[in-house]
Amino acid sequence: MPYQGGEHLPGQAASKTSHIDVIESRLMQELLTRFERREFEDDQRLAPWFHLDLSGVKPLGDTVATDGSLHKVTSDDGFRELCFVKTARFHLRTGDAAQVDPQFPHPLQIQRLMKDAAIHCSAVFPLRNMVLGRFANVRDSIRELIREIITHEHGGIVYEAMKWLLYQGWGPESESPDLGCPVKGCKSAGPLPYNEDEGRCRECGAKIYITDVLGLHHDIGEDSASEAVANAYMAIHEVLLLVAHLYRLWRSGDFDAIDDTLFVKDGPLMFRGQYATLTKRMRQLLSYFRDENRNIYIVGQEKSGLVFDHLESQVRHLRRHSEPAWPQVAILSHAYMRGRVQRLPKAQHTYGSRTNYGEKVLIRLDPSFALAVNIPTGEFMSSESAPSEAHHFIGLDRIIATLPHLVSYLHEGSLVPINLAHGIASLSYYPSGAALQRFAGIDDVARPP
Ligand SMILES: [Zn+2]
Repeated sequence: MPYQGGEHLPGQAASKTSHIDVIESRLMQELLTRFERREFEDDQRLAPWFHLDLSGVKPLGDTVATDGSLHKVTSDDGFRELCFVKTARFHLRTGDAAQVDPQFPHPLQIQRLMKDAAIHCSAVFPLRNMVLGRFANVRDSIRELIREIITHEHGGIVYEAMKWLLYQGWGPESESPDLGCPVKGCKSAGPLPYNEDEGRCRECGAKIYITDVLGLHHDIGEDSASEAVANAYMAIHEVLLLVAHLYRLWRSGDFDAIDDTLFVKDGPLMFRGQYATLTKRMRQLLSYFRDENRNIYIVGQEKSGLVFDHLESQVRHLRRHSEPAWPQVAILSHAYMRGRVQRLPKAQHTYGSRTNYGEKVLIRLDPSFALAVNIPTGEFMSSESAPSEAHHFIGLDRIIATLPHLVSYLHEGSLVPINLAHGIASLSYYPSGAALQRFAGIDDVARPP
């Protein structure tokens, strides 16, 4: 690690001659001869593609999409740091999306669509050398901020939806998941009784909030935090915005609307390992509704990463084949994901068992439009060869029947609702980084003269 620049002296730059030692080292020379090059492997084997017959399948009438973005702001002297997070949810009639010109969307038309249809939420977290007044450290500051933000935003609808998810408000009502203590790190703080907003750690007696059950404190050190906590908050909040829409329909008993809504998330349907609790609750929610014969239609689109790369290589090979019947679908089983996409040997745990609440599906709508998506199955299917059939998924046919109405040719494989949600959530649109820095008031010199 180089020294950073200070007030009087510049930072440490890399030496321009020290590579000579490395090049002349016998050991380095010898080690390099032992490396084996990995060549690019063009895997020509095709995924299990099949034609999904959608005749008579009704597309979903409503689309709700979420996206988020974050922007880190550092003071000029690098001493203080905080991070802004913005998330947005966009509600669109599928019919209106189909009216948008997929190649040249008119800005006024977009503006009309966005009016009254979007909500957005902002949050800001101190990462370094900033704390919330009366809180001694960064961790407690961030915990308090999360509690205040989620409790108050949009009249508390996100907060109520979060409690509904954590306490399984759809029934049977339960206590909250157990959580580690966010204050003293006790192993088990104990679950909170049904619907409580706060309680006490059963080991050390510290006050804990239901928002702590989200587990974000795992990503925060006592005295500083990294962008990881902002990233995790953003990922969780995007899902909570979708759950909030579902919760509102459920509360008003509008099951017809639920059965006609496509929930769209930008990115895979998963939470990182330390948020396994949320993965579990999402699976419970989805499988409960499925068992009641009320499907919740969720799709997550992967726009980068291994699955997306795999899709691109498949599409490249398929161009050489004759035109099939559209649409074409490939379901990627756990074994396929491990062996062909990740290219890893079989592991102890089934692929995605701790993290994913959606399984991987590749879709080609026509020769030029392909998507890598995640669609839930409800409870996790533990078999290596699963999922393999269309009926394993929740509403695969209706979800795929809806996608052609949402196609946009603005970006490769892009969907109108995701483009619009991104437009609202994207922080680079406004205010710019410099404006955020001024707004945050951290651009004055922090170090003593
Ligand atoms: Zn404790």
